Amino acid sequence: MSEDYTSMWENLGLDLVAHDALLEVLGKGYQDIYLTQKDRPEGMGYFDFVMSEVHGLRIKELLDEKAAGRKVIGSFCVFVPEEIVQAADATLVGLCTGADFAMDEVEKLLPRNTCSLIKSAFGFKMGKVCPYLESSDMIVGENTCDGKKKSYETLTNLVSNLYVMDIPQVKSVEGRALIKAEYLRFKEAVEELTGVAIDAARLKKGIEIVNNKRMAIHKLSILRKADPAPISGLDALLANQVFFYDNPGRFTESVNKICDELEQRIEKKEGVFPKETPRILLSGCPMAVPNWKLPWIIETSGAVIVGEESCVGERGTRNLTDDSWDTVEELMEAIVDRYFQVDCAIFTPNPDRIEHIVEMVETYKADGVIHYGLQFCQPYLMESMPVEKALEAKNIPCLRIDTDYSMEDVGQLKTRVEAFVEMIK
Ligand code: SF4
Ligand code: SF4
Repeated sequence: MSEDYTSMWENLGLDLVAHDALLEVLGKGYQDIYLTQKDRPEGMGYFDFVMSEVHGLRIKELLDEKAAGRKVIGSFCVFVPEEIVQAADATLVGLCTGADFAMDEVEKLLPRNTCSLIKSAFGFKMGKVCPYLESSDMIVGENTCDGKKKSYETLTNLVSNLYVMDIPQVKSVEGRALIKAEYLRFKEAVEELTGVAIDAARLKKGIEIVNNKRMAIHKLSILRKADPAPISGLDALLANQVFFYDNPGRFTESVNKICDELEQRIEKKEGVFPKETPRILLSGCPMAVPNWKLPWIIETSGAVIVGEESCVGERGTRNLTDDSWDTVEELMEAIVDRYFQVDCAIFTPNPDRIEHIVEMVETYKADGVIHYGLQFCQPYLMESMPVEKALEAKNIPCLRIDTDYSMEDVGQLKTRVEAFVEMIK
């Protein structure tokens, strides 16, 4: 880290001993998994820097912005429309967390058989280790899966600024009306928080900022079609993870720079793995920092990940918001249209997701799919079976993995992944 940020963390109310322990785990994980990779694009140096300053410089930037009057809004889900937040000159940060923390405390409030993602969010709050959570002026929870929506009833006792947004579970006319009503209510809440009245020009600007981030990520994704793969799945995942908390303009610029480098690599037929390395599409639950376990297992088992069908990946960034409209009402409709296409497994039925998985297999020329489900995540575990069946019908090999954030099953997972990679070779 470039400076000593101890007093900043103290002022945010973090537990300095616990926070040090978290930073150590994060730093060691990053060192072992990321910095041991070979032939990484030089542009990844920016993301190495971001990771080294994730609780340092980036938090200082957010606090400086806050001191200048800007508000910070934290979110656990890609259904929270960043366009509206940006339109009010506020900053959206992702609060999804990818590591176990303070589990003894968490399990006093949540059943043991709750998914790791929800438990981790609680652990970061209860362990007082997340500067993003503590910097947020508003924390948005969304009624998506049962685990999340019921856990917010408890989270509201731990954070005073929780705002809960309802999300439909069916893609019907009534479902669209619900999400539209909720986005209009959210717009009003953001206006109240920031004191900014969102007009059409502001909304257009907000859409442009977020679309630019998405377009940069789309460009990166398209380059991953090449064989040999010009970037590892681990590095591409990192870019998708950083999407949620970096400064949007700087993020867009950095991803575009990596894309320029990858284009040159492709031209020279250079890659991070040899040509014809088995190609995997990873599909399923979101992977938040520092949840790199499964991608690391896959890419140290003789395969390369060429796409993520995930909210931290293509499901979250797939569509752009149409900014060609002129009024607030029309632009809000465009936002609703964009988000109502997200094919999260909370929707029933959810045929679009299966179609997208098959489409991604074809686009990225994947040899097989690894479906990643977090233990106790009913929506994705339930959906993993029809996904596997649909892929089998198209002769696309599929391996279903259910796991959590612990490292106890690494050996067993590695054996299964190696056998799968051997089979698809
Ligand atoms: S998987 Fe569903 S609930 Fe989770 S972040 Fe994505 S859209 Fe939200
Ligand atoms: S991983 Fe599954 S259970 Fe956990 S928050 Fe996401 S959708 Fe809910």
